[in-house]
Amino acid sequence: MLGWFRRRPQPKRRAIDAALWREATASWLFMRGVTAEENDRLHALSERFLAAKRFAGTHGLEVSDLMQVEIAAQACILVLEIGFDWYEGWSDVIVYPAQFAPEREVMDEAGVVHLTNDPMAGEAWLGGPVILSYEDVAMTADEEMRVAGYNVVIHEFAHKLDMRSGDPNGFPPLHSTMDAAAWKRAFSGAFDDFTRRVDAAEALPKRKVQAALDALPIDPYAAESAGEFFAVASEAFFETPELLAPAYPDVYEQLRLFYRQDPHARLARGERRG
Ligand SMILES: [Zn+2]
Repeated sequence: MLGWFRRRPQPKRRAIDAALWREATASWLFMRGVTAEENDRLHALSERFLAAKRFAGTHGLEVSDLMQVEIAAQACILVLEIGFDWYEGWSDVIVYPAQFAPEREVMDEAGVVHLTNDPMAGEAWLGGPVILSYEDVAMTADEEMRVAGYNVVIHEFAHKLDMRSGDPNGFPPLHSTMDAAAWKRAFSGAFDDFTRRVDAAEALPKRKVQAALDALPIDPYAAESAGEFFAVASEAFFETPELLAPAYPDVYEQLRLFYRQDPHARLARGERRG
């Protein structure tokens, strides 16, 4: 009857020392205003991530400890308040040195199948790996190079959360305290509005298009589909809440309820502290 007294096994961790943790997280925009207590929990969660997931590099890329911690920390900010279980059911993170261009068959609106090989910064597979271009990950940490609001790791891991209820469609499983109708209203209204704004920008004279797209509050890629809108809005929620919250307050509010975090308030606190 020894089993009666057996303790529940503790979740496994792979330790990240304090110096490596600081180096890996110092420059991310989403760390602005994070409290010491939140930082400690994010650190612990990232140690769990490293123990649970397997990293593999392609084209001879060695995924160093620093790179693994950078990816783990960004992935874990999404589940900081909702729990690591959201990332169960798959195990591999594949890292390309730069953008990759897999050959794919895509059917167009007329039903014609084309072979494409568009360059990609990241990909998330249902029940399978997350694939990332490290060049894009690194760019996000670089103050000179980064495009604020662009974060490929947050983007792909948001797809992973969305996939908890099947193909990514911008409708992850919601907490029981949330209202599915309110989610749908907020996201479909914002998606329609944003798609119109992207279309209007693209209809401008050629020399004005890029500036108009750059002036949008979130990455124009969000207009691709409801699933992409959710992933891009999640990037903005963590990286540039100061742009997302005023532009689409209902979406911000739903994401705040979903992630159980308020990065906009956190940012304001961080700025007061200096
Ligand atoms: Zn995507």
